[in-house]
Amino acid sequence: MKKSCNCSGKKLPMFSPGDSPAPPSSDTVYLEMNRLAGTYPFVTLSEYGRSVLGRPLLYICAGTGARRVWINASHHANEWITTMVLLKFMNELFEKAQTGGEISGFDAKTLLRNARLCFMPLVNPDGVDLVLGKLDQIEVADARKVANNYPFIPFPSGWKANLRGIDLNLQYPANWEKAKEIKFAQGFTSPAPRDYVGPAPLVAPESRTLAAFTQAGSPDVTLSLHTQGEVIYWRFADFDPPGARELGEKLAVASGYTLSTTPPESDNAGYKDWFIQEWNRPGYTVEMGQGENPLPISDLDSIYAHTAPLLATAANG
Ligand SMILES: [Zn+2]
Repeated sequence: MKKSCNCSGKKLPMFSPGDSPAPPSSDTVYLEMNRLAGTYPFVTLSEYGRSVLGRPLLYICAGTGARRVWINASHHANEWITTMVLLKFMNELFEKAQTGGEISGFDAKTLLRNARLCFMPLVNPDGVDLVLGKLDQIEVADARKVANNYPFIPFPSGWKANLRGIDLNLQYPANWEKAKEIKFAQGFTSPAPRDYVGPAPLVAPESRTLAAFTQAGSPDVTLSLHTQGEVIYWRFADFDPPGARELGEKLAVASGYTLSTTPPESDNAGYKDWFIQEWNRPGYTVEMGQGENPLPISDLDSIYAHTAPLLATAANG
């Protein structure tokens, strides 16, 4: 569905000046991605998979450079503000690349000449729609049944998983058995709003298709956007990818976030972990913002102020 824009040209950008943007339900995000693809001739829009509910998993790429940098957001449903941050960054980057200008101190055209950037802004569209109250009653009822087994997790605001109750960032085959052991010991032994690893790695279509797409695309650097904590995780197990610490330190300086090793209890089965294990290349989990998830949309501008320089720095290398 390359360049599948059927927009009339009348649709407003998500981040029009003076307007507060709508939260990123899947239909809003698809409209925005279509609008970007229709507005900027150097941008391509395609689909790498489908969610449990059949929603398209879309990505946008831009740039002609050899260095491949991939950035994903919203593996976790109630971290949907990460989708907003990434879409805002894409808006600014593409606009500056078109008109000539800098983004966070980097010349946008040069960034796109030196790198090939690919964005997957909505890894978990069904989960995000659930948290935002955009699913129909039958789908919500199914999710509520899952949530009822975990009454200490607020519903739907505490929901991180996909619509099958599988935590998409505990699905990757990198110490998955260890993740299972830890999460089962914590009581997450069945489909749950968060922290259930699934019956096996890569059974959730959202994670499976992203893994397959990553295998095929072989990026040089990946960033996974999460909330919260203002911290950047860069290690997995004993891997020490060449250049990973150096780039991580640059990302920390750019954002004011702390570069940290992952705590052992979460150093398993995430996209970053699996990416580092498969390629021994720099992969990062960026925990944006501070507070309790879901972070309010009013935090968007302050989070963006920290993380746009981080994303531009990642693109620059
Ligand atoms: Zn997360």
